[in-house]
Amino acid sequence: MSNVLEVNGLKKDYGAFKLNDVSFSLQEGCITGFIGVNGAGKTTTIKSILGLVLKDAGSVKLFGKEIEKNEQELKNYIGVVLDEGCFYEEMTLKEMKNVIAPAYTNWDEKIFRNYINRFDLNLKQKISTLSKGMKMKYSIALALSHHADLLIMDEPTSGLDPLIRSEILDIVLEFIREEGKSVFFSTHITSDLDKIADMLILIDKGEILLNEEKDLILDTYGVVKGDSNLLNDENRKLFLNIKESRYNFEAITNRKNDVRKHMDGVIIERPTIEDVMLAHIGGDRDAI
Ligand code: ATP
Repeated sequence: MSNVLEVNGLKKDYGAFKLNDVSFSLQEGCITGFIGVNGAGKTTTIKSILGLVLKDAGSVKLFGKEIEKNEQELKNYIGVVLDEGCFYEEMTLKEMKNVIAPAYTNWDEKIFRNYINRFDLNLKQKISTLSKGMKMKYSIALALSHHADLLIMDEPTSGLDPLIRSEILDIVLEFIREEGKSVFFSTHITSDLDKIADMLILIDKGEILLNEEKDLILDTYGVVKGDSNLLNDENRKLFLNIKESRYNFEAITNRKNDVRKHMDGVIIERPTIEDVMLAHIGGDRDAI
């Protein structure tokens, strides 16, 4: 599989926060989930890739070409859905579309109208009067109406109800079914990615901690549960994090075979993406 996007040595220093040498690539035909808690650096990474934030160092290539040097051409291949949706609030949906559409050589009005009908949106409505869910749908309609090959979505499901979230995930799945399409989907709601992601990239404090196939991650890691008496100094080293109560413990391991070999009487369950993410960043569920 070829790489659609290659990010190398990306740096951005905000003083209190730094993107530290962020490097990864996105494979064609894959949905890559970009996960991390609030403030981990997801939006800064995405905006640096898109040139919306001025990076301090690093290179970003789309289909082998530097985005910076070929912006006009390459932006045709990318559909972008940003969390805050950068629109003029006083415009109607149609007026805003008329501002955006000419920027793309491949704008397809028919596809756009199909999405508008499918999402039950009214082109005469002002953007300021849209609900959060409607605005997200409008953003998606705009992002998917110029035959983009790479869809970049920053927290598209954040703050939305389960029905709209599920609709958005269906659209992402429809998009990826077409040959040659790829998706980069940032979120702190990892349960969305349990369903759709092929690859996962975990960022924390501006650094990439994990970059792997989702299924491999979920097969490799395990949630281990057992009696607290079973823990000792030696077998504690098999875990990334351990939560202990007076009688029981629950811990995440990426060494399931060693746990089976050295610890009798424990249960090993399949983790969720959230379990693995929190084990790496040392948090607990309440932190999300
Ligand atoms: P969330 O899930 O909350 O959107 P995130 O992972 O997208 O979080 P970022 O928005 O990239 O995180 O923010 C990372 C850090 O960079 C935060 O500490 C934020 O305060 C800081 N930051 C973002 N933009 C700026 C800016 N323009 N100036 C200074 N600091 C900034």
